[in-house]
Amino acid sequence: MSATIAPSTLDVSKILSRRVQSVDASGIRKVFDLAAHLKDPINLSIGQPDFPVPDILKQAAIKAIEENRNGYTPTQGCPELLRAIWSRLGSEVGWTNDPAHGLSTIATSGTSGALVLGMMAVLDPGDEAIVPDPYFVMYPQLGALTGGKMVLCDTYPDFRMTADKIEKLITPRTKAVLVNSPGNPTSVVLNSKELQDIVDLCRAKGILLISDEIYDEFTFSESRENGHFPTPARFTRDCLLIRGFGKTYGCTGWRLGYVAGPHDIVQSIAKLQQYTYVCAPSMAQYAAAHAFEVDMRPWVDRFEKRRDTVLAAFDGVAQVAKPGGAFYAFVEVPPALGMTASQFVEKAIERSVLVIPGKVFSTRDTHFRLSFAAKEETLARGLDVLRGIMLGK
Ligand code: PMP
Repeated sequence: MSATIAPSTLDVSKILSRRVQSVDASGIRKVFDLAAHLKDPINLSIGQPDFPVPDILKQAAIKAIEENRNGYTPTQGCPELLRAIWSRLGSEVGWTNDPAHGLSTIATSGTSGALVLGMMAVLDPGDEAIVPDPYFVMYPQLGALTGGKMVLCDTYPDFRMTADKIEKLITPRTKAVLVNSPGNPTSVVLNSKELQDIVDLCRAKGILLISDEIYDEFTFSESRENGHFPTPARFTRDCLLIRGFGKTYGCTGWRLGYVAGPHDIVQSIAKLQQYTYVCAPSMAQYAAAHAFEVDMRPWVDRFEKRRDTVLAAFDGVAQVAKPGGAFYAFVEVPPALGMTASQFVEKAIERSVLVIPGKVFSTRDTHFRLSFAAKEETLARGLDVLRGIMLGK
Protein backbone atom coordinates (compact mmCIF):
# COMPACT_ATOMS: atom_id res chain seq x y z
CA MET A 1 0.00 0.00 0.00
CA SER A 2 1.44 3.37 -0.96
CA ALA A 3 1.48 6.26 1.49
CA THR A 4 -0.52 9.40 0.64
CA ILE A 5 1.76 12.13 -0.59
CA ALA A 6 0.90 15.50 0.95
CA PRO A 7 0.28 18.38 -1.49
CA SER A 8 3.26 20.68 -1.97
CA THR A 9 3.27 23.78 0.23
CA LEU A 10 6.87 24.80 -0.26
CA ASP A 11 7.34 28.36 -1.54
CA VAL A 12 10.28 27.59 -3.80
CA SER A 13 10.87 31.28 -4.58
CA LYS A 14 11.85 31.71 -0.91
CA ILE A 15 14.20 28.77 -1.14
CA LEU A 16 16.08 29.58 -4.33
CA SER A 17 19.29 31.49 -3.76
CA ARG A 18 19.82 35.00 -5.07
CA ARG A 19 22.73 33.45 -6.93
CA VAL A 20 20.62 31.11 -9.03
CA GLN A 21 17.88 33.71 -9.47
CA SER A 22 20.40 36.06 -11.04
CA VAL A 23 21.48 33.47 -13.61
CA ASP A 24 19.70 33.89 -16.97
CA ALA A 25 18.37 30.82 -18.79
CA SER A 26 20.29 30.32 -22.03
CA GLY A 27 18.92 32.46 -24.86
CA ILE A 28 19.84 29.68 -27.25
CA ARG A 29 17.16 27.54 -25.68
CA LYS A 30 14.62 30.31 -26.35
CA VAL A 31 15.46 30.17 -30.07
CA PHE A 32 15.00 26.40 -30.08
CA ASP A 33 11.58 26.91 -28.46
CA LEU A 34 10.63 29.32 -31.28
CA ALA A 35 11.69 26.73 -33.83
CA ALA A 36 10.16 23.73 -32.06
CA HIS A 37 7.27 23.49 -34.57
CA LEU A 38 9.57 23.27 -37.62
CA LYS A 39 9.61 19.84 -39.28
CA ASP A 40 13.02 19.78 -40.94
CA PRO A 41 14.78 23.09 -40.19
CA ILE A 42 17.99 24.17 -41.87
CA ASN A 43 19.94 24.23 -38.66
CA LEU A 44 22.86 26.67 -38.63
CA SER A 45 22.72 27.21 -34.89
CA ILE A 46 24.72 24.25 -33.62
CA GLY A 47 27.83 24.89 -31.52
CA GLN A 48 29.43 21.53 -32.09
CA PRO A 49 31.18 19.89 -35.02
CA ASP A 50 29.36 17.67 -37.50
CA PHE A 51 31.93 14.88 -37.66
CA PRO A 52 32.12 11.64 -35.68
CA VAL A 53 34.64 11.02 -32.91
CA PRO A 54 37.86 9.62 -34.45
CA ASP A 55 37.99 5.82 -34.19
CA ILE A 56 41.14 5.73 -32.09
CA LEU A 57 39.36 7.72 -29.36
CA LYS A 58 36.18 5.65 -29.59
CA GLN A 59 38.16 2.42 -29.30
CA ALA A 60 40.21 3.68 -26.37
CA ALA A 61 37.05 4.70 -24.46
CA ILE A 62 35.40 1.34 -25.16
CA LYS A 63 38.55 -0.54 -24.15
CA ALA A 64 38.80 1.34 -20.85
CA ILE A 65 35.16 0.54 -20.02
CA GLU A 66 35.52 -3.12 -20.98
CA GLU A 67 38.72 -3.49 -18.99
CA ASN A 68 36.79 -2.25 -15.95
CA ARG A 69 38.79 0.94 -15.65
CA ASN A 70 35.65 2.76 -14.57
CA GLY A 71 36.57 4.06 -11.16
CA TYR A 72 37.72 7.48 -10.05
CA THR A 73 40.94 8.72 -11.55
CA PRO A 74 43.28 10.94 -9.55
CA THR A 75 41.68 14.40 -9.19
CA GLN A 76 44.22 15.94 -11.55
CA GLY A 77 43.65 13.31 -14.20
CA CYS A 78 44.93 9.87 -15.21
CA PRO A 79 48.71 9.70 -15.69
CA GLU A 80 48.52 8.79 -19.41
CA LEU A 81 46.39 11.86 -20.19
CA LEU A 82 48.62 14.17 -18.14
CA ARG A 83 51.68 12.79 -19.97
CA ALA A 84 49.99 13.43 -23.33
CA ILE A 85 49.07 17.00 -22.32
CA TRP A 86 52.64 17.77 -21.19
CA SER A 87 54.07 16.31 -24.35
CA ARG A 88 51.72 18.45 -26.41
CA LEU A 89 52.41 21.65 -24.43
CA GLY A 90 56.15 20.96 -24.54
CA SER A 91 56.31 20.62 -28.30
CA GLU A 92 53.81 23.40 -28.98
CA VAL A 93 54.75 26.21 -26.58
CA GLY A 94 57.75 24.95 -24.60
CA TRP A 95 55.77 24.49 -21.36
CA THR A 96 56.97 21.45 -19.41
CA ASN A 97 56.40 19.98 -15.95
CA ASP A 98 59.99 20.73 -15.02
CA PRO A 99 59.60 22.17 -11.46
CA ALA A 100 61.72 25.12 -12.57
CA HIS A 101 58.84 26.19 -14.83
CA GLY A 102 56.43 26.34 -11.87
CA LEU A 103 53.59 24.93 -13.96
CA SER A 104 50.87 22.38 -13.35
CA THR A 105 47.97 20.86 -15.27
CA ILE A 106 44.60 19.31 -14.44
CA ALA A 107 41.95 17.52 -16.51
CA THR A 108 38.52 19.10 -15.96
CA SER A 109 34.89 18.28 -16.61
CA GLY A 110 34.69 20.12 -19.89
CA THR A 111 36.09 23.51 -20.62
CA SER A 112 33.07 24.80 -18.69
CA GLY A 113 34.29 23.00 -15.56
CA ALA A 114 37.67 24.64 -16.03
CA LEU A 115 36.15 28.11 -16.38
CA VAL A 116 33.95 27.77 -13.29
CA LEU A 117 36.70 26.39 -11.07
CA GLY A 118 39.27 28.81 -12.49
CA MET A 119 37.11 31.83 -11.70
CA MET A 120 36.16 30.41 -8.29
CA ALA A 121 39.84 30.01 -7.49
CA VAL A 122 40.63 33.61 -8.39
CA LEU A 123 37.65 35.84 -7.58
CA ASP A 124 36.40 37.05 -4.22
CA PRO A 125 33.02 38.83 -4.07
CA GLY A 126 33.40 42.18 -5.81
CA ASP A 127 36.59 41.23 -7.66
CA GLU A 128 36.49 41.89 -11.37
CA ALA A 129 37.34 39.89 -14.47
CA ILE A 130 37.34 41.52 -17.89
CA VAL A 131 35.62 39.43 -20.58
CA PRO A 132 34.85 40.18 -24.22
CA ASP A 133 31.50 41.38 -25.57
CA PRO A 134 30.33 39.53 -27.66
CA TYR A 135 30.98 36.59 -25.35
CA PHE A 136 30.53 32.87 -24.97
CA VAL A 137 27.17 32.64 -23.14
CA MET A 138 28.72 31.36 -19.95
CA TYR A 139 31.07 34.29 -19.33
CA PRO A 140 28.62 36.82 -17.83
CA GLN A 141 27.05 34.06 -15.73
CA LEU A 142 30.44 33.34 -14.17
CA GLY A 143 29.80 36.53 -12.17
CA ALA A 144 26.62 35.15 -10.65
CA LEU A 145 28.26 31.77 -10.06
CA THR A 146 31.35 33.09 -8.31
CA GLY A 147 30.26 36.38 -6.73
CA GLY A 148 32.76 38.18 -8.91
CA LYS A 149 31.91 40.89 -11.40
CA MET A 150 32.32 40.27 -15.12
CA VAL A 151 33.28 43.54 -16.81
CA LEU A 152 32.40 43.54 -20.50
CA CYS A 153 34.99 44.73 -23.01
CA ASP A 154 33.19 46.08 -26.07
CA THR A 155 35.02 44.66 -29.09
CA TYR A 156 32.69 45.90 -31.85
CA PRO A 157 33.02 46.28 -34.81
CA ASP A 158 36.12 44.17 -35.55
CA PHE A 159 35.77 41.91 -32.49
CA ARG A 160 39.44 42.19 -31.60
CA MET A 161 39.94 42.33 -27.82
CA THR A 162 43.11 44.39 -27.80
CA ALA A 163 45.27 45.68 -24.92
CA ASP A 164 44.13 49.29 -25.42
CA LYS A 165 40.46 48.30 -25.09
CA ILE A 166 41.24 46.19 -22.00
CA GLU A 167 43.41 48.80 -20.28
CA LYS A 168 40.55 51.31 -20.04
CA LEU A 169 38.54 48.81 -17.97
CA ILE A 170 41.19 47.94 -15.39
CA THR A 171 40.38 49.03 -11.81
CA PRO A 172 41.99 48.21 -8.46
CA ARG A 173 39.54 45.26 -8.25
CA THR A 174 40.59 43.69 -11.57
CA LYS A 175 42.10 40.26 -11.03
CA ALA A 176 41.78 38.59 -14.41
CA VAL A 177 41.41 39.18 -18.12
CA LEU A 178 39.70 36.42 -20.08
CA VAL A 179 40.65 36.20 -23.74
CA ASN A 180 38.92 33.82 -26.15
CA SER A 181 40.64 33.29 -29.49
CA PRO A 182 39.34 31.85 -31.81
CA GLY A 183 36.26 33.35 -30.24
CA ASN A 184 32.68 32.26 -29.85
CA PRO A 185 30.48 33.74 -31.41
CA THR A 186 32.79 35.67 -33.79
CA SER A 187 35.57 33.16 -34.62
CA VAL A 188 37.99 36.09 -34.76
CA VAL A 189 41.61 35.03 -34.07
CA LEU A 190 44.04 37.42 -32.37
CA ASN A 191 47.57 37.56 -33.76
CA SER A 192 50.79 37.17 -31.76
CA LYS A 193 51.43 40.91 -31.60
CA GLU A 194 47.98 41.54 -30.09
CA LEU A 195 48.48 38.69 -27.61
CA GLN A 196 51.96 39.88 -26.66
CA ASP A 197 50.50 43.35 -25.90
CA ILE A 198 47.86 41.77 -23.64
CA VAL A 199 50.54 39.69 -21.89
CA ASP A 200 52.62 42.85 -21.31
CA LEU A 201 49.60 44.75 -19.98
CA CYS A 202 48.67 41.96 -17.57
CA ARG A 203 52.26 41.69 -16.38
CA ALA A 204 52.50 45.46 -15.81
CA LYS A 205 49.26 45.48 -13.82
CA GLY A 206 49.76 42.21 -11.92
CA ILE A 207 46.64 40.68 -13.43
CA LEU A 208 46.09 37.03 -14.38
CA LEU A 209 45.56 36.34 -18.06
CA ILE A 210 43.13 33.50 -18.72
CA SER A 211 43.07 32.17 -22.28
CA ASP A 212 40.06 30.11 -23.34
CA GLU A 213 41.52 28.18 -26.27
CA ILE A 214 38.80 25.62 -26.81
CA TYR A 215 38.99 26.20 -30.60
CA ASP A 216 42.81 26.13 -30.77
CA GLU A 217 42.99 23.34 -33.37
CA PHE A 218 40.38 25.06 -35.51
CA THR A 219 42.58 27.89 -36.73
CA PHE A 220 42.57 28.53 -40.47
CA SER A 221 45.62 28.85 -42.71
CA GLU A 222 45.93 32.65 -42.82
CA SER A 223 45.63 32.91 -39.00
CA ARG A 224 48.30 30.31 -38.26
CA GLU A 225 51.76 31.73 -37.67
CA ASN A 226 54.58 29.46 -38.89
CA GLY A 227 51.96 26.75 -38.97
CA HIS A 228 50.98 27.38 -35.33
CA PHE A 229 47.93 28.70 -33.59
CA PRO A 230 48.77 32.03 -31.89
CA THR A 231 48.63 31.69 -28.10
CA PRO A 232 49.87 33.90 -25.26
CA ALA A 233 51.53 30.77 -23.81
CA ARG A 234 54.34 31.41 -26.24
CA PHE A 235 55.22 34.63 -24.37
CA THR A 236 54.49 33.88 -20.73
CA ARG A 237 53.92 31.15 -18.17
CA ASP A 238 51.86 33.56 -16.04
CA CYS A 239 48.75 32.54 -17.88
CA LEU A 240 45.94 30.10 -17.25
CA LEU A 241 45.46 28.10 -20.44
CA ILE A 242 42.03 26.54 -20.73
CA ARG A 243 41.52 24.02 -23.49
CA GLY A 244 39.02 21.35 -24.43
CA PHE A 245 38.61 18.11 -26.34
CA GLY A 246 34.87 18.26 -27.10
CA LYS A 247 34.95 20.58 -30.12
CA THR A 248 38.20 19.36 -31.63
CA TYR A 249 37.31 15.67 -31.61
CA GLY A 250 33.53 15.87 -31.85
CA CYS A 251 32.93 14.55 -28.33
CA THR A 252 31.25 17.49 -26.57
CA GLY A 253 29.16 15.05 -24.52
CA TRP A 254 32.23 13.44 -23.01
CA ARG A 255 32.84 16.58 -20.94
CA LEU A 256 36.60 16.91 -21.00
CA GLY A 257 38.93 19.88 -20.90
CA TYR A 258 42.13 20.84 -19.18
CA VAL A 259 43.84 23.74 -17.49
CA ALA A 260 47.56 24.42 -17.48
CA GLY A 261 49.27 27.32 -15.76
CA PRO A 262 50.91 28.61 -12.60
CA HIS A 263 51.31 25.72 -10.16
CA ASP A 264 49.58 27.32 -7.15
CA ILE A 265 46.54 28.36 -9.16
CA VAL A 266 46.15 24.92 -10.76
CA GLN A 267 46.55 23.26 -7.34
CA SER A 268 43.80 25.53 -6.01
CA ILE A 269 41.59 24.43 -8.88
CA ALA A 270 42.42 20.80 -7.99
CA LYS A 271 41.32 21.49 -4.42
CA LEU A 272 37.96 22.80 -5.65
CA GLN A 273 37.60 19.92 -8.12
CA GLN A 274 38.06 17.44 -5.29
CA TYR A 275 34.85 18.71 -3.64
CA THR A 276 32.81 19.33 -6.80
CA TYR A 277 33.42 17.25 -9.92
CA VAL A 278 35.90 14.93 -8.09
CA CYS A 279 37.56 14.03 -11.39
CA ALA A 280 36.83 14.41 -15.09
CA PRO A 281 34.96 11.48 -16.73
CA SER A 282 37.34 8.53 -16.67
CA MET A 283 36.62 6.89 -20.05
CA ALA A 284 36.96 10.27 -21.76
CA GLN A 285 40.35 10.76 -20.11
CA TYR A 286 41.65 7.35 -21.24
CA ALA A 287 40.44 8.12 -24.76
CA ALA A 288 41.83 11.66 -24.88
CA ALA A 289 45.26 10.34 -23.94
CA HIS A 290 45.34 9.40 -27.67
CA ALA A 291 43.81 12.63 -28.97
CA PHE A 292 47.04 14.29 -29.98
CA GLU A 293 47.88 11.31 -32.23
CA VAL A 294 44.94 12.24 -34.45
CA ASP A 295 45.38 14.63 -37.37
CA MET A 296 42.27 16.81 -37.56
CA ARG A 297 43.72 18.99 -40.33
CA PRO A 298 41.52 17.54 -43.12
CA TRP A 299 38.46 18.67 -41.14
CA VAL A 300 39.97 22.05 -40.31
CA ASP A 301 40.66 22.57 -44.03
CA ARG A 302 37.09 21.59 -44.84
CA PHE A 303 35.78 24.10 -42.28
CA GLU A 304 38.02 26.74 -43.84
CA LYS A 305 36.35 26.13 -47.23
CA ARG A 306 32.94 26.45 -45.59
CA ARG A 307 34.09 29.72 -44.04
CA ASP A 308 34.99 30.94 -47.54
CA THR A 309 31.51 29.96 -48.77
CA VAL A 310 29.92 31.98 -45.96
CA LEU A 311 32.04 35.06 -46.70
CA ALA A 312 31.26 34.82 -50.41
CA ALA A 313 27.52 34.58 -49.71
CA PHE A 314 27.45 37.81 -47.70
CA ASP A 315 29.97 39.70 -49.82
CA GLY A 316 28.45 43.08 -50.70
CA VAL A 317 25.29 42.25 -48.71
CA ALA A 318 26.26 42.20 -45.02
CA GLN A 319 29.32 42.90 -42.87
CA VAL A 320 31.08 39.86 -41.41
CA ALA A 321 34.37 40.00 -39.50
CA LYS A 322 36.48 37.29 -41.13
CA PRO A 323 36.36 34.12 -39.04
CA GLY A 324 39.97 33.00 -38.56
CA GLY A 325 39.00 29.69 -36.99
CA ALA A 326 36.26 27.84 -35.07
CA PHE A 327 33.02 27.38 -37.00
CA TYR A 328 30.93 30.50 -36.52
CA ALA A 329 30.35 33.70 -38.44
CA PHE A 330 28.91 36.73 -36.63
CA VAL A 331 26.95 38.49 -39.34
CA GLU A 332 25.64 42.03 -39.06
CA VAL A 333 21.99 42.49 -39.99
CA PRO A 334 22.23 45.21 -42.66
CA PRO A 335 21.23 48.45 -40.86
CA ALA A 336 19.18 49.47 -43.92
CA LEU A 337 16.72 46.67 -43.07
CA GLY A 338 15.80 48.65 -39.95
CA MET A 339 15.33 45.58 -37.77
CA THR A 340 16.98 44.07 -34.74
CA ALA A 341 18.84 40.79 -35.03
CA SER A 342 16.04 39.11 -33.06
CA GLN A 343 13.49 40.32 -35.61
CA PHE A 344 15.74 39.10 -38.41
CA VAL A 345 16.08 35.69 -36.76
CA GLU A 346 12.28 35.44 -36.47
CA LYS A 347 12.07 35.99 -40.23
CA ALA A 348 14.73 33.36 -40.81
CA ILE A 349 12.84 30.88 -38.63
CA GLU A 350 9.65 31.59 -40.64
CA ARG A 351 11.68 30.31 -43.59
CA SER A 352 12.96 27.31 -41.62
CA VAL A 353 16.50 28.58 -41.03
CA LEU A 354 17.86 28.51 -37.50
CA VAL A 355 20.52 31.03 -36.45
CA ILE A 356 21.04 32.71 -33.07
CA PRO A 357 20.44 36.44 -32.47
CA GLY A 358 23.41 38.47 -31.25
CA LYS A 359 21.70 39.52 -28.02
CA VAL A 360 22.24 35.99 -26.72
CA PHE A 361 25.99 36.70 -26.85
CA SER A 362 26.07 40.42 -26.32
CA THR A 363 24.51 43.57 -24.90
CA ARG A 364 23.72 44.47 -28.52
CA ASP A 365 21.18 42.91 -30.87
CA THR A 366 22.68 43.83 -34.22
CA HIS A 367 24.25 40.59 -35.47
CA PHE A 368 23.42 36.90 -35.64
CA ARG A 369 25.59 33.85 -35.14
CA LEU A 370 25.66 31.35 -37.93
CA SER A 371 27.40 28.02 -37.41
CA PHE A 372 29.07 26.44 -40.41
CA ALA A 373 29.45 23.13 -38.62
CA ALA A 374 26.80 21.88 -41.05
CA LYS A 375 26.94 19.82 -44.25
CA GLU A 376 27.90 21.89 -47.30
CA GLU A 377 24.53 21.36 -48.95
CA THR A 378 22.63 22.45 -45.80
CA LEU A 379 24.89 25.46 -45.42
CA ALA A 380 24.31 26.52 -49.04
CA ARG A 381 20.52 26.32 -48.67
CA GLY A 382 20.62 28.30 -45.42
CA LEU A 383 22.88 30.98 -46.88
CA ASP A 384 20.50 31.36 -49.84
CA VAL A 385 17.58 32.02 -47.50
CA LEU A 386 19.49 34.47 -45.27
CA ARG A 387 20.80 36.39 -48.29
CA GLY A 388 17.31 36.42 -49.76
CA ILE A 389 15.87 38.06 -46.61
CA MET A 390 18.63 40.68 -46.69
CA LEU A 391 17.95 41.45 -50.37
CA GLY A 392 14.18 41.71 -49.72
CA LYS A 393 13.40 38.59 -51.79
N1 PMP B 1 34.44 28.20 -24.16
C1 PMP B 1 33.91 28.53 -25.34
C2 PMP B 1 34.41 29.74 -26.05
C3 PMP B 1 32.90 27.75 -25.90
O1 PMP B 1 32.37 28.09 -27.09
C4 PMP B 1 32.43 26.60 -25.20
C5 PMP B 1 31.34 25.71 -25.73
N2 PMP B 1 30.46 26.21 -26.61
C6 PMP B 1 33.02 26.32 -23.96
C7 PMP B 1 34.02 27.13 -23.48
C8 PMP B 1 32.56 25.14 -23.12
O2 PMP B 1 32.93 23.95 -23.71
P1 PMP B 1 32.78 22.52 -23.00
O3 PMP B 1 31.73 21.81 -23.79
O4 PMP B 1 34.14 21.89 -23.14
O5 PMP B 1 32.41 22.76 -21.61
